[in-house]
Amino acid sequence: MSYEGTMIPRSGSPAGRCDYCGHPFPTTDRLVLHKGLEHPQRLDDDEEDAFLSARADEEDELRTLRLKALGALVLLYFGFLMLYAIVA
Ligand SMILES: [Zn+2]
Repeated sequence: MSYEGTMIPRSGSPAGRCDYCGHPFPTTDRLVLHKGLEHPQRLDDDEEDAFLSARADEEDELRTLRLKALGALVLLYFGFLMLYAIVA
């Protein structure tokens, strides 16, 4: 059985390129974040809005990740507690 040809074709062209330094980015979100961080003085209002919302999205993702890590820790703690209760 061959998996050849079943993979999603990889596109060689990036989603966006920075207007100011020409750096390519795989997603427009990354490009927007780059522009906001590296060229903040050159953003127009639209780009600034896009940057702020993209950054807010990233912060949301981080928060979700932190919550998941905390949940895993609590589960682990109770897991050990149960184990201790059974073994001891
Ligand atoms: Zn740039």
